[in-house]
Amino acid sequence: MLPLTSRPRALTTVDALLTEGLAHPDRVAELRQVTSEFRLRISPLMREAMGNLATGPLARQFVPTPAELDVRPEERTDPIGDLTHKVAPGLTHRYPDRVILAVTQSCDVYCRFCFRRETVGGDGALSDADLDAACAYIAAHPAIWEVVLTGGDPLSLSARRIGAIMDRLSRIPHLGIIRFHTRVPVVFPERITPALIRALKVRPAVYMVIHTNHAQELTGVSCAALARLAQAGIPLLSQTVLLKGINDDPDTLEDLFRTLLRNRVKPYYLHHSDLARGTGHFRTSISAGQAIMKVLRGRLSGTALPTYVLDIPGGFGKVPIGPAYLTPDAGGWRVTDPQGHSHLYRDPV
Ligand SMILES: *Cc1c(COP(=O)(O)O)cnc(C)c1O
Ligand code: SF4
Repeated sequence: MLPLTSRPRALTTVDALLTEGLAHPDRVAELRQVTSEFRLRISPLMREAMGNLATGPLARQFVPTPAELDVRPEERTDPIGDLTHKVAPGLTHRYPDRVILAVTQSCDVYCRFCFRRETVGGDGALSDADLDAACAYIAAHPAIWEVVLTGGDPLSLSARRIGAIMDRLSRIPHLGIIRFHTRVPVVFPERITPALIRALKVRPAVYMVIHTNHAQELTGVSCAALARLAQAGIPLLSQTVLLKGINDDPDTLEDLFRTLLRNRVKPYYLHHSDLARGTGHFRTSISAGQAIMKVLRGRLSGTALPTYVLDIPGGFGKVPIGPAYLTPDAGGWRVTDPQGHSHLYRDPV
């Protein structure tokens, strides 16, 4: 494995995209406008994995396009209401038993559809003072038993910094779970080092939710990093964003979910695309998402199926929005099977 200092560089500028043949010279002015608002970064591994296709499922996720300048009236700067429930710098408390803590704004890739695109890419990780304030808040609220580390990408921090955060959180006695929401094992697997894994051996149970949207992201080295995490006893889950033209068909998602499961990652959430600014070209309808889930229910084991969820705009929380199999009927229930046939079910009296 290459030491971090001699690895190939990430792509971070429109000029670099041009050099690599990933941007059309006629669109440079628009692309510069896009990247002045929303940061650009493509990790070396994702650059390599996308090949020379500026239109494949990886390029479409990471290479900016003029379509991002098309901001629609329903789109928002705070699509899921992180700010509505903000209780301290970096800390959002929406559900009684858990908080999310943004420990950095940095990521190894900036996804063009990111629901936090207004805040990611800014400078600065959470300061020690802010971490102290967040820990004080959590310590003062015994109902909080889970901390979800997010950002940005929490695993883009150094193993040493992550160790320090683990230490601080572990000292809060009522904390049972520390959960990472991360794309690092897939897009920058070199970061999953023995030092990092040692830093994750703490008293609260550590879980990881891996953000990944297409089986092409799961390169050999990405899968090896997932294996190192699984080997260390860290339960792995995944979250996927439903993205038009990238994964919005049953075959692509079936392939992704089977690949994840084989790599010991349990598909957890399929997110309906959030109303972030300039992301309309990625958004499907809810009925399209439900139709896909319906097909997958007939094809895949429950172990491979995530819950299709909507984060209700405004900060009202995530709810399942999958297809309905049950409707009240004649004092009982009308149930639809995976083949589409309907059956009457009655609760025992
Ligand atoms: C998504 C989210 C969580 C975690 O939700 P789960 O359903 O437990 O995965 C917690 N807090 C906030 C503010 C969130 O947006
Ligand atoms: S890795 Fe996550 S936080 Fe970072 S840009 Fe992508 S979706 Fe946003």
